[in-house]
Amino acid sequence: MIHSLNSISNDTNPSEVLKRVWGYPDFRGMQREAIDGVIAGKDTLVLFPTGKGKSLCFQLPALCMPGVGIVVSPLVALMRDQVEELKELGVAAGGLWSGQDQSEAFDVKQRLISGDLKLLYVTPERIAAGGLHTILGRNGVSLIAVDEAHCISVWGNNFRKDYLALGRLKEIFPGVPIIALTATADPHTQKDILKLLNLQDPAVFIDSFDRQNIKYEIALRSNARSQLLDFLKRHVGESGIVYCLSRKKVEETVEWLNEQGIRAKHYHAKLDPAVKVANHDAFRLEEGLCLVATIAFGMGINKPNVRYVAHIDLPGSVEAYYQETGRAGRDGLPSEAFMVYGMQDIVQRGRMIDDGDSSDQVKRVERAKLSSLLGICETTSCRRQSILSYFGEKHPGKCGNCDTCNKPVESWDGTEAAIKALAAIYRTGERFGVAHVIDVLTGKITEKTKQFGHVDLPVFGAGKDISSSAWQSVYRQLLTLGLTRIEHEEYGAMKLQESATAVFRRERQIILRRDHSVSRTSRSAKDREKVETRGGLSADDREVFEILRQERLDISRELGVAPYVVFPDTTLISIAKQRPNKIDEMLEISGIGQIKLDRYGDRFLSALRRAVG
Ligand code: ADP
Ligand code: ZN
Repeated sequence: MIHSLNSISNDTNPSEVLKRVWGYPDFRGMQREAIDGVIAGKDTLVLFPTGKGKSLCFQLPALCMPGVGIVVSPLVALMRDQVEELKELGVAAGGLWSGQDQSEAFDVKQRLISGDLKLLYVTPERIAAGGLHTILGRNGVSLIAVDEAHCISVWGNNFRKDYLALGRLKEIFPGVPIIALTATADPHTQKDILKLLNLQDPAVFIDSFDRQNIKYEIALRSNARSQLLDFLKRHVGESGIVYCLSRKKVEETVEWLNEQGIRAKHYHAKLDPAVKVANHDAFRLEEGLCLVATIAFGMGINKPNVRYVAHIDLPGSVEAYYQETGRAGRDGLPSEAFMVYGMQDIVQRGRMIDDGDSSDQVKRVERAKLSSLLGICETTSCRRQSILSYFGEKHPGKCGNCDTCNKPVESWDGTEAAIKALAAIYRTGERFGVAHVIDVLTGKITEKTKQFGHVDLPVFGAGKDISSSAWQSVYRQLLTLGLTRIEHEEYGAMKLQESATAVFRRERQIILRRDHSVSRTSRSAKDREKVETRGGLSADDREVFEILRQERLDISRELGVAPYVVFPDTTLISIAKQRPNKIDEMLEISGIGQIKLDRYGDRFLSALRRAVG
């Protein structure tokens, strides 16, 4: 791989470096303030949601400061990706990690010694072990970036024991600014990061966690497969992730999707390691691939143009849902988060908590987390507002980019229905599952209703005026409201919770959501239209974009790198729209810096000429 040496000379003007190296005209959000602080030597905590551009906050200062910037990251896959991207930008970057080619490691060390490296990526154990310090000492360390800093906290979702050793960095490198970065919003984790990394008088930058470009949709499961297929039809030719709860479901779903003509690959923890790597690579390198995965497919995903994330099973918590859906649309272009759920998920998740080996205290927390997620599923107001409010962020609602905003949900006074539903549980002795209790309410004569003498109860047939599926909806909502619970030990028998008393006494009004059945055809036609105008492209520009995309794919294959390493989608969209005539005009486009212009300018310009004929 070629690396240009021109970036070794320190250019101290951040705006000029941004333009020259990255080809971006402006900083985003709080990037500039964070960068200025780091250059001034300040310890810094950067809390930006995914896609807001955290990496630039340490990469750019390292180019403006003397010495080498050290970047600690938890996953080799992540580091490899970033080093590759930086090299493409002409930045002198390298990494040291286990399993690396010996000659590559030797080369990186040589360049460190000669002071010919601006950014060094290392694993946490490598930097904490101490062996590198003498080499690093020679030319000085400009800054230390701790990426995915939440890994240091046991409260976070991805605690890593080896991160704890990073607490010594302040001692080993006194006076070197540490910049910690994470997309985890939880205040407890934030405190842990500051304390455990021993940051001195840190500047803290917290950006809004709203991912405006992600559209949220949560639907009731009617037929998960056809709902998924409808959703995927809106994303033909685009890459995305489908999350499932179990390995078995991952495998079945992949097989079925391929039968339906959708190119899909699988990923889960028990997969043969070689297949795992191959499938992850395919996702990185190819376009239009659907990766069906368990939550094992996570942190190493750096791909900016993941256009959708679908959940066909309920995730475990709002944190997990937000982290997983957050993998969509890092490039800021419109993307979708889609989920289906139903009563079965609630029962299954509840059972997972009950059967787990956590302490009672932890189980209580897990139940509370599940019920917060269910609250978001059942909400009749803006999804974005309820998600953000879970993280303590105020949003005015009516975002216009979620299903409840686009198609308002009706609600109804379900107090009388709730009383009947709860009475049916009580009268049948709190010993039966939902299906039987609904049979009793709707007055169905079955073996079971006869056998237990339920046909003689006053509640038998008392709910005939409502359909069975509407009763399903009532029971699901009573469960999420915490008025009932499911006893897994007793084959899913429904039990009343204390809070039900107030409903019986009519002291509490119950407002329920009217579930609308998903009207498929009308929706997909409208959404297809949306997909076509994705990124604001006219049909004509879209054709040009596709040709540029093919050129990018050819180049990436020649180089053996991911397409987005050559140029992000946003850059191709700008070329398609602006259609520069001359090579110099290409520098006006966001994402084209000097080095990339020299490397690829001509090829994209001639692709553009071919496209516009
Ligand atoms: P994060 O780590 O916060 O998820 P990244 O650092 O991966 O985000 O950045 C996401 C995308 O945004 C990348 O493609 C990056 O090049 C791009 N980006 C970052 N800063 C800017 C900027 N100032 N202008 C335009 N694009 C930017
Ligand atoms: Zn909304």
